Amino acid sequence: MRKLTSGTLVVASHNEGKVREIRDLLAPYGLDVTSVGTLGLPEPVEDGETFEDNARIKAIAAAKGSGMPALADDSGLAVDALDGAPGIHSARWAGPDKDFAMAMRNVEEALQQKGATTPEARTARFVAVLCLAWPDGEIAEFRGEVEGVLVWPPRGERGFGYDPVFLPDGHDRTFGEMTAEEKHGLKPGDPKGLSHRARAFQKFSAACLGSAV
Ligand code: IMP
Repeated sequence: MRKLTSGTLVVASHNEGKVREIRDLLAPYGLDVTSVGTLGLPEPVEDGETFEDNARIKAIAAAKGSGMPALADDSGLAVDALDGAPGIHSARWAGPDKDFAMAMRNVEEALQQKGATTPEARTARFVAVLCLAWPDGEIAEFRGEVEGVLVWPPRGERGFGYDPVFLPDGHDRTFGEMTAEEKHGLKPGDPKGLSHRARAFQKFSAACLGSAV
Protein backbone atom coordinates (compact mmCIF):
# COMPACT_ATOMS: atom_id res chain seq x y z
CA MET A 1 0.00 0.00 0.00
CA ARG A 2 1.09 3.56 -0.76
CA LYS A 3 2.90 5.07 2.27
CA LEU A 4 2.83 8.55 3.73
CA THR A 5 6.47 9.10 4.57
CA SER A 6 6.94 12.86 4.41
CA GLY A 7 5.17 16.07 3.45
CA THR A 8 1.86 17.47 4.61
CA LEU A 9 -1.30 15.55 5.48
CA VAL A 10 -4.65 17.38 5.57
CA VAL A 11 -7.08 16.37 8.31
CA ALA A 12 -10.50 16.44 6.63
CA SER A 13 -12.61 17.63 9.55
CA HIS A 14 -14.10 20.96 10.57
CA ASN A 15 -14.42 19.66 14.14
CA GLU A 16 -11.49 21.18 16.08
CA GLY A 17 -11.63 18.44 18.74
CA LYS A 18 -11.27 15.75 16.10
CA VAL A 19 -8.44 17.65 14.33
CA ARG A 20 -6.56 17.88 17.64
CA GLU A 21 -7.04 14.17 18.38
CA ILE A 22 -5.83 13.11 14.92
CA ARG A 23 -2.92 15.59 15.08
CA ASP A 24 -1.87 14.03 18.42
CA LEU A 25 -2.09 10.53 16.94
CA LEU A 26 0.06 11.58 13.97
CA ALA A 27 2.63 13.53 16.01
CA PRO A 28 5.16 10.68 16.35
CA TYR A 29 5.35 10.05 12.60
CA GLY A 30 7.15 13.23 11.49
CA LEU A 31 4.46 14.50 9.10
CA ASP A 32 3.32 18.11 8.81
CA VAL A 33 -0.36 18.20 9.63
CA THR A 34 -2.88 20.84 8.60
CA SER A 35 -6.67 20.86 8.36
CA VAL A 36 -9.43 21.80 5.95
CA GLY A 37 -10.43 24.61 8.33
CA THR A 38 -6.93 26.13 8.26
CA LEU A 39 -6.87 25.88 4.45
CA GLY A 40 -10.34 27.48 4.17
CA LEU A 41 -11.81 24.52 2.29
CA PRO A 42 -15.61 24.10 2.36
CA GLU A 43 -17.43 21.32 4.23
CA PRO A 44 -18.86 18.76 1.77
CA VAL A 45 -22.41 17.43 2.20
CA GLU A 46 -22.21 14.10 4.06
CA ASP A 47 -25.06 12.33 2.31
CA GLY A 48 -23.68 8.78 2.31
CA GLU A 49 -25.48 5.78 3.76
CA THR A 50 -22.52 4.22 5.57
CA PHE A 51 -19.57 5.34 7.70
CA GLU A 52 -17.34 4.41 4.74
CA ASP A 53 -19.37 6.61 2.35
CA ASN A 54 -19.12 9.65 4.60
CA ALA A 55 -15.42 9.21 5.43
CA ARG A 56 -14.71 8.87 1.69
CA ILE A 57 -16.76 11.98 0.78
CA LYS A 58 -14.81 14.08 3.31
CA ALA A 59 -11.37 12.67 2.43
CA ILE A 60 -11.79 12.98 -1.36
CA ALA A 61 -13.14 16.55 -1.14
CA ALA A 62 -10.15 17.58 1.01
CA ALA A 63 -7.55 15.83 -1.18
CA LYS A 64 -8.95 17.31 -4.40
CA GLY A 65 -9.38 20.76 -2.84
CA SER A 66 -5.87 20.91 -1.37
CA GLY A 67 -3.81 18.85 -3.81
CA MET A 68 -2.42 16.95 -0.80
CA PRO A 69 -3.23 13.59 0.81
CA ALA A 70 -6.13 13.88 3.25
CA LEU A 71 -7.38 11.79 6.17
CA ALA A 72 -11.04 11.75 7.27
CA ASP A 73 -12.79 9.95 10.11
CA ASP A 74 -16.46 9.07 10.43
CA SER A 75 -17.74 7.39 13.53
CA GLY A 76 -20.78 6.59 15.63
CA LEU A 77 -22.71 4.22 17.86
CA ALA A 78 -24.68 1.34 16.30
CA VAL A 79 -27.29 -0.32 18.54
CA ASP A 80 -28.44 -3.79 17.45
CA ALA A 81 -31.99 -3.56 18.85
CA LEU A 82 -32.42 -0.26 16.95
CA ASP A 83 -31.28 -1.76 13.61
CA GLY A 84 -27.94 0.06 13.83
CA ALA A 85 -29.30 3.50 14.87
CA PRO A 86 -28.16 6.15 15.68
CA GLY A 87 -25.26 4.99 13.43
CA ILE A 88 -24.15 7.61 10.93
CA HIS A 89 -26.64 10.02 12.58
CA SER A 90 -24.99 9.75 16.03
CA ALA A 91 -24.04 13.42 16.15
CA ARG A 92 -27.47 14.47 14.82
CA TRP A 93 -29.31 12.71 17.67
CA ALA A 94 -27.73 15.28 20.01
CA GLY A 95 -29.44 18.17 18.18
CA PRO A 96 -27.96 21.57 17.30
CA ASP A 97 -26.87 22.15 20.91
CA LYS A 98 -24.84 18.91 20.91
CA ASP A 99 -26.81 17.74 23.94
CA PHE A 100 -25.55 14.20 24.50
CA ALA A 101 -27.49 13.78 27.77
CA MET A 102 -30.57 14.10 25.56
CA ALA A 103 -29.12 11.82 22.86
CA MET A 104 -28.40 9.10 25.46
CA ARG A 105 -31.95 9.50 26.85
CA ASN A 106 -33.39 9.16 23.34
CA VAL A 107 -31.43 5.94 22.79
CA GLU A 108 -32.65 4.64 26.17
CA GLU A 109 -36.29 5.51 25.41
CA ALA A 110 -36.05 3.72 22.06
CA LEU A 111 -34.60 0.65 23.83
CA GLN A 112 -37.37 0.72 26.46
CA GLN A 113 -39.97 0.87 23.68
CA LYS A 114 -38.43 -2.30 22.25
CA GLY A 115 -38.56 -3.93 25.70
CA ALA A 116 -34.74 -4.20 25.61
CA THR A 117 -34.02 -4.53 29.32
CA THR A 118 -31.48 -7.39 29.57
CA PRO A 119 -27.79 -6.95 28.63
CA GLU A 120 -28.25 -9.48 25.78
CA ALA A 121 -30.93 -7.24 24.26
CA ARG A 122 -28.80 -4.10 24.65
CA THR A 123 -25.71 -4.95 22.59
CA ALA A 124 -24.04 -2.15 20.59
CA ARG A 125 -20.77 -1.21 19.00
CA PHE A 126 -18.80 1.95 18.35
CA VAL A 127 -17.53 2.13 14.78
CA ALA A 128 -14.83 4.39 13.30
CA VAL A 129 -13.79 4.47 9.66
CA LEU A 130 -10.64 6.31 8.60
CA CYS A 131 -10.25 7.12 4.91
CA LEU A 132 -6.97 8.30 3.38
CA ALA A 133 -7.44 9.91 -0.05
CA TRP A 134 -4.70 10.98 -2.47
CA PRO A 135 -5.17 13.90 -4.91
CA ASP A 136 -5.08 11.46 -7.85
CA GLY A 137 -8.15 9.68 -6.46
CA GLU A 138 -6.52 6.63 -4.82
CA ILE A 139 -8.09 5.80 -1.46
CA ALA A 140 -7.53 3.43 1.45
CA GLU A 141 -10.06 2.73 4.22
CA PHE A 142 -9.65 1.30 7.71
CA ARG A 143 -12.52 0.24 10.04
CA GLY A 144 -12.24 -0.17 13.80
CA GLU A 145 -15.01 -1.47 16.05
CA VAL A 146 -15.49 -2.12 19.75
CA GLU A 147 -18.37 -4.29 21.01
CA GLY A 148 -20.27 -3.67 24.22
CA VAL A 149 -23.63 -3.25 25.93
CA LEU A 150 -25.54 -0.13 26.84
CA VAL A 151 -26.13 0.63 30.53
CA TRP A 152 -28.60 2.97 32.19
CA PRO A 153 -28.18 5.39 33.93
CA PRO A 154 -25.04 6.91 32.36
CA ARG A 155 -21.83 6.35 34.36
CA GLY A 156 -18.71 8.54 34.49
CA GLU A 157 -17.76 12.08 33.57
CA ARG A 158 -14.90 11.33 31.20
CA GLY A 159 -14.84 11.04 27.42
CA PHE A 160 -17.57 12.55 25.27
CA GLY A 161 -20.71 11.72 23.31
CA TYR A 162 -22.20 8.34 24.24
CA ASP A 163 -19.21 7.20 26.37
CA PRO A 164 -21.08 7.13 29.73
CA VAL A 165 -23.61 4.50 28.55
CA PHE A 166 -21.14 2.24 26.70
CA LEU A 167 -19.72 -0.71 28.64
CA PRO A 168 -17.10 -2.43 26.46
CA ASP A 169 -17.18 -6.26 26.52
CA GLY A 170 -14.87 -7.78 29.14
CA HIS A 171 -14.76 -4.59 31.26
CA ASP A 172 -16.71 -3.41 34.28
CA ARG A 173 -16.38 0.33 33.67
CA THR A 174 -17.97 2.41 30.91
CA PHE A 175 -15.89 4.50 28.50
CA GLY A 176 -17.12 7.47 30.57
CA GLU A 177 -15.33 5.99 33.61
CA MET A 178 -12.04 5.22 31.80
CA THR A 179 -9.03 7.48 31.31
CA ALA A 180 -8.09 8.42 27.74
CA GLU A 181 -5.13 6.03 28.04
CA GLU A 182 -7.39 3.11 28.93
CA LYS A 183 -9.79 3.96 26.10
CA HIS A 184 -7.29 4.69 23.34
CA GLY A 185 -4.06 3.00 24.48
CA LEU A 186 -0.90 4.51 25.89
CA LYS A 187 0.53 5.67 22.58
CA PRO A 188 -0.60 5.77 18.94
CA GLY A 189 -0.78 2.29 17.47
CA ASP A 190 -0.75 0.64 20.93
CA PRO A 191 -2.40 -2.77 20.37
CA LYS A 192 -4.01 -2.45 23.81
CA GLY A 193 -6.02 0.56 22.60
CA LEU A 194 -9.63 -0.50 23.11
CA SER A 195 -11.56 2.16 21.25
CA HIS A 196 -12.91 1.92 17.73
CA ARG A 197 -10.80 4.96 16.73
CA ALA A 198 -7.62 3.46 18.24
CA ARG A 199 -8.28 0.20 16.37
CA ALA A 200 -8.85 1.95 13.03
CA PHE A 201 -5.70 4.01 13.62
CA GLN A 202 -3.67 0.86 14.38
CA LYS A 203 -4.63 -0.51 10.95
CA PHE A 204 -3.99 2.82 9.20
CA SER A 205 -0.59 3.34 10.81
CA ALA A 206 0.52 -0.23 10.06
CA ALA A 207 -0.47 0.12 6.40
CA CYS A 208 0.36 3.74 5.56
CA LEU A 209 2.80 5.30 8.03
CA GLY A 210 6.53 4.79 8.45
CA SER A 211 7.91 4.03 11.88
CA ALA A 212 7.33 6.49 14.70
CA VAL A 213 10.18 8.95 15.29
P1 IMP B 1 -19.03 12.36 13.16
O1 IMP B 1 -18.32 13.63 13.48
O2 IMP B 1 -20.10 12.50 12.13
O3 IMP B 1 -18.09 11.24 12.86
O4 IMP B 1 -19.85 12.03 14.50
C1 IMP B 1 -19.44 11.11 15.39
C2 IMP B 1 -20.44 11.06 16.57
O5 IMP B 1 -20.47 9.70 17.03
C3 IMP B 1 -19.99 11.88 17.74
O6 IMP B 1 -20.59 13.14 17.76
C4 IMP B 1 -20.48 11.04 18.93
O7 IMP B 1 -21.82 11.30 19.12
C5 IMP B 1 -20.39 9.63 18.44
N1 IMP B 1 -19.10 9.04 18.81
C6 IMP B 1 -18.10 8.71 17.96
N2 IMP B 1 -17.04 8.23 18.64
C7 IMP B 1 -17.38 8.27 19.94
C8 IMP B 1 -16.67 7.91 21.13
O8 IMP B 1 -15.50 7.49 21.16
N3 IMP B 1 -17.35 8.10 22.28
C9 IMP B 1 -18.61 8.59 22.32
N4 IMP B 1 -19.29 8.94 21.26
C10 IMP B 1 -18.69 8.78 20.06
